[in-house]
Amino acid sequence: MPLWLALAAITLPPLIVAAVMGGLLVRRAQADAQEAAEAQELVASVKLLDAARRASDAEVLPTLLLDVLAEKDAASELGFQATRRDLLSTTEPAVVRQRRVATDQALEAVLDAPLPLQLRGVVIEARQTLLAARRAADNSSQVLETVASGYSRTSATLAAGQRWATAQAVAAGLSSHSVAALQDLTQVAQLSEAASRQLGLLFAARVLPGALREEAERGWMAAWGKYTELADQGNELSSARVREGYQLFQSTPSVAAFSDLLARQALDPGTEVVRTGALPGLVDRSGTRDDAVAVVLQDAVAEVTDSAQADRDAAQARERAALAGCLALVLLSLLIAGLLSRWLTRSMSSLAGSAQQISQGHLVVAQAQGPREMRTAAAALTSAVAGLRRVQEQARAVVDGDPEAALRLRPLPGPLGEVVHASIEQIVDTFRAREALQEELAHQANHDPLTGLANRAQVLEQLTALLGDDEPETHTGVLFIDLDGFKAVNDTHGHAAGDRVLIEVAQRLSAGLRPSDVVGRFGGDEFVVLLPKVPGIAPLAELAQRLVAAVSWSGPLDGGADGDRGAVRNVQVGASIGVALSSPDSTADTLLAEADLAAYRAKRAGRGRVEVFDDRLRAELSEQAEMEVALREGLEAGELHLHYQPVVNLHTGVVVGFEALARWERPGVGPVRPDIFIAAAEASSLVCDLGRWVLHAALAQVTRWKTFGEAGFGTGEDEPTMAVNISGRHLSDNRILNDVYDALNAAGLPASVLVLEITETVLTTDPQVREHLRQLRASGVQVAIDDFGTGFTSVAALVDTPADILKIDRSFVDSDDPGHHQLATLITRAAQTFSLRVIAEGIETPEQLARVMADGCEEAQGYLFSRPLPPEAVGRLPASLVPQTSSGSLLKDLPRQAEAPENSEQRTSVPGGPA
Ligand code: C2E
Ligand code: CA
Ligand code: CA
Repeated sequence: MPLWLALAAITLPPLIVAAVMGGLLVRRAQADAQEAAEAQELVASVKLLDAARRASDAEVLPTLLLDVLAEKDAASELGFQATRRDLLSTTEPAVVRQRRVATDQALEAVLDAPLPLQLRGVVIEARQTLLAARRAADNSSQVLETVASGYSRTSATLAAGQRWATAQAVAAGLSSHSVAALQDLTQVAQLSEAASRQLGLLFAARVLPGALREEAERGWMAAWGKYTELADQGNELSSARVREGYQLFQSTPSVAAFSDLLARQALDPGTEVVRTGALPGLVDRSGTRDDAVAVVLQDAVAEVTDSAQADRDAAQARERAALAGCLALVLLSLLIAGLLSRWLTRSMSSLAGSAQQISQGHLVVAQAQGPREMRTAAAALTSAVAGLRRVQEQARAVVDGDPEAALRLRPLPGPLGEVVHASIEQIVDTFRAREALQEELAHQANHDPLTGLANRAQVLEQLTALLGDDEPETHTGVLFIDLDGFKAVNDTHGHAAGDRVLIEVAQRLSAGLRPSDVVGRFGGDEFVVLLPKVPGIAPLAELAQRLVAAVSWSGPLDGGADGDRGAVRNVQVGASIGVALSSPDSTADTLLAEADLAAYRAKRAGRGRVEVFDDRLRAELSEQAEMEVALREGLEAGELHLHYQPVVNLHTGVVVGFEALARWERPGVGPVRPDIFIAAAEASSLVCDLGRWVLHAALAQVTRWKTFGEAGFGTGEDEPTMAVNISGRHLSDNRILNDVYDALNAAGLPASVLVLEITETVLTTDPQVREHLRQLRASGVQVAIDDFGTGFTSVAALVDTPADILKIDRSFVDSDDPGHHQLATLITRAAQTFSLRVIAEGIETPEQLARVMADGCEEAQGYLFSRPLPPEAVGRLPASLVPQTSSGSLLKDLPRQAEAPENSEQRTSVPGGPA
């Protein structure tokens, strides 16, 4: 139900009641006015009745006189002389007719007036009585008394009508003033009745016979008495106008004289103060008095009429007032209802609108207007919205990633506020936990888990930041620290001891530096120190020297957290440090590469040294970078090719394998030494591309030889192997597996053909390398450890080395140092114990060959047998490369281990050929 309908329903009942009451008031006023109008009609009829009654009373004497005159005897007896009787007999009938006409007219006038039915009946009855009396009078056989009583009844009937009418008017409930006026009228009417009847009754008392006379006598006396009594009561009249008329009437000389005359007769009934014969002569005087009374009566009637009119006007005024009041009340109610409805509707629809918007999620402020309850509701809504706003702000703070701000906001009151606050607290907790985790992860991502130092990524980031802060006169210094003797610790005392050395070094480095300096570990035994705001190279070099001293120690190493278990008695650790100072165009990468290169130089120059990256080194570096670019292009342009160096079985001279060695004929420069261009390639992933190319080219060559049955291939059994050098970088790259398998597949060769040569240092750096090697070996590829002995792999560590072949470095073969020879012997024996094949590298002389053979080495490689050769030259090689002497095969002359000849027997399947 809409609001206006409800309001209408509320306002309608009282409105109806007001309308009904107003209607009743109007009806009442109308009734009053109606009654006043009826009263006016009634008093008008009183006047007319009075006129008719007076006319009828005036008929009595002439009528009786005519009857009396008809009886000559009786007439004369009564004092009417013959002459007078004759005269009267001729004049009186006309008088009677005249009177009758007057009475009839008066009665007609009454009947013409608007009369109440009852009154009309009275008048008709009176007229019939009158007509009967007249008929009796006209009929000579009738007696006088019939006539007299007929007139008397007529008069009485009309008088009764007057009284009834007056009484009706009084009963109409007019104002007291009107009632008083009606009482005046009653009194005047009684006076009029008493006056008009007197002469007729007096005459009847003279002329009627016997008992009737006495009755008439009493009637006359009563009429006179009444008249006299009423005449004295003029002061009792309430209306001044009627009272004045009354007094004026009494003091009128003719009236007073006539009344005196009658009074004298009445006061002396025994004598005829007025003779009977003179009575007809008084008729006119009586008529005059009657007319005078009639004037007073008219005044009284007018007074009543005026008063009733006033009553009527008052009633009508009341009616109009009631109507107007009622209308005004209705209009006022409607106006108030309308205004109220508008006021309420406006405020409520505003509130409803706000509520609807709020329900749709718009946090609007509800307008506080309308009645108090509505304002209370709006205020409540507004405070709810304020609460929701706060929740919104809190949610926004959470969304903006600042839930702490959400918590700082005052919580909402009530259960919603509690649960919101609780949920935000929970979010904050989660947030904090996540932040802590992120910090932890970031720390982990940025730090070396072993030493807690910054890792490579973090060092790069910090260095980049420091370089950004560099000012013209200050520089950023970088120290690249490479530990000396660390691998020996690792190999001889195990990784746990190595870890403790690293931790110790980290602590010593940090202790020797300022808090603003950054210490990081690059993995393995490489550390980096970043020094902000360094004025020049000299203090940097000094610091580097101090650090060398700080981290160098020889002596016992305490056990770690796990007690004495890992305690080591004697450890010798030192450091080689490369120093680099930023220039305006340094980048983190270049600066680190410079320090790295300097450290490399320091190490090469001998342990415990500090090398500064200077212009000479810079030139080398740029040369290397330039070479890298040229090599990349050369690789794509097909400037590289392979040479193959055979590996020979020392028992038989049979070629058991080849090593592929890269050659680069650099246009405009000529051949570049492999160790130089390989070093340049190793600075980037170019070395992987190179390795991939070598794998494909070497294996493709094997396929060609197989096809043509050259270089010992194509026999189907005990075919030579093809060894390819793979750099550590390539080996730790995931692509190595695919590169190897792709090359084998492309060449259509079994994995067993391929030997991968890796350096021993590769094994120690990256766990990925071991996993890759494990998979490759599982697929049938063989692994050879190249240049063995130059690194720090202990002989004991050979037990779990993922390799099949050990290549003893040329430096052992070449050396004159007997210690080296002993080491070579040891390595050979140990390798054989662990089921590793041993190849001696760089055999140039028969002496060298003799020595390695004496050690029990069964395979060898070197210029003595063959230099690395282009493929076509390899194709022309003899199957057996036993070096020949004048005394025949060199192998036969050489001393060897006891069991060697037995083995050689079996292996000498390939017949020797010319050198
Ligand atoms: P390496 O792997 O130890 O290769 C053996 C080196 O010793 C070769 O030098 C070879 O020519 C040389 N050599 C062989 N017999 C004798 C000898 O009796 N006396 C002397 N003085 N030298 C001998 P090269 O070809 O100059 O290669 C140098 C190094 O370059 C290689 O040492 C290897 O580390 C690297 N290298 C060569 N080719 C490749 C390649 O394709 N890939 C990778 N990653 N490295 C390669
Ligand atoms: Ca090699
Ligand atoms: Ca080698």
